[in-house]
Amino acid sequence: MNAETVPPIPFLDLKAQQARLGPKLRQRLDAVLAHGQFILGPEVAELEAKLAIFCGASHCVTVSSGTDALQIALMAEGVGRGDAVFLPAFTYTATAEVPLLLGATPVFVDVDPRTFQIDLGSLQLRIADVKRAGKLRPAAIIGVDLFGQPANWPGLRAIAQENNLFTLDDCAQSFGSTLHGRRLGRDADATATSFFPSKPLGAYGDGGALFTESAERAALYRSLRTHGEGTTRYEVLRIGMNGRLDTMQAAILLAKLEIFEAEIARREEIARIYDTQLAGAVATPARVPDSKSAWAVYAILLTDNMAREHARSALQRAGIGHAIYYPRPLHNQPAYAACHDGEPLPVAEELGSRILALPIHPDLTDTQVHRVTATLRAALGN
Ligand SMILES: *Cc1c(COP(=O)(O)O)cnc(C)c1O
Repeated sequence: MNAETVPPIPFLDLKAQQARLGPKLRQRLDAVLAHGQFILGPEVAELEAKLAIFCGASHCVTVSSGTDALQIALMAEGVGRGDAVFLPAFTYTATAEVPLLLGATPVFVDVDPRTFQIDLGSLQLRIADVKRAGKLRPAAIIGVDLFGQPANWPGLRAIAQENNLFTLDDCAQSFGSTLHGRRLGRDADATATSFFPSKPLGAYGDGGALFTESAERAALYRSLRTHGEGTTRYEVLRIGMNGRLDTMQAAILLAKLEIFEAEIARREEIARIYDTQLAGAVATPARVPDSKSAWAVYAILLTDNMAREHARSALQRAGIGHAIYYPRPLHNQPAYAACHDGEPLPVAEELGSRILALPIHPDLTDTQVHRVTATLRAALGN
């Protein structure tokens, strides 16, 4: 395949998506320019109502990013110094950054080698480690729904209940996915998601949201996102933050929400082509039982780092976008190593050298997807 004559296949294509959004997007933005309520304008409340209906949650509070959603959720529970927050070692940095910002200690947990989701056996061992050491109070579990698939929420809830832990769903990559026929959004005490442009439901800037079944929590989140304000504007009840979603991003998300289900369906079609065409050549992603993925990431596993580098250079030469999520588990990151107790987390440590993410945005054509698989099969000699 000659990269000079065949157009490249981008990893993400937000411009092609704009064409599918049509005039709705401009109409939404023009409406905001006309009314001028750039902070907490009517689009923000409209979006919150529609997102809550979309995932079946009782309350939705939009915020400025997925990271701020995680932070506000933990602030509302008073998580801080002396608290242990259990979370997977194989995730985006924000999951571990937030407890540390609040003075709490992240306790890293290993992941499943086939689904890449948090491993319940490892979680139980890590909780026992913390109890035995007696230095930290087990306070919360952040379950991450990695790459678009749900974590094992029934299992996580049972462990949380046994140990009296708050459950926070980091659903930044998986909003729109389902577990046991229900969309994610009410599987934990609070669910946080992100509207970063590359996420399944992405804005044209930063944004996020919190979902909860608790009216008290929802009220706290609203207060915390606006500097801890009370019932009147200049009453400050608690330490909060400047954590609101802006009206322009809400307007963009309202336009995008209308095509969101079709986008997830298209991503599923692409995933199936990959599954079929790559079977036998690489390890294709294992599905979490009784779930539907939002397909933020389609990640394959190569036999080892050499095979992965071989595949990468072939994709590179063919002009095909690809990415590595995540090259290094969080407990081995310079910023986080000091808070790790040294416990080996072998799966998280190995995945970084074998994993490779292929393009899965909804504007890929079948022909393009077949070009990706043909390039990979040729590179791997089958
Ligand atoms: C993207 C992401 C976040 C952070 O979301 P932002 O909106 O970028 O702050 C948190 N957790 C996970 C797992 C993510 O992928």
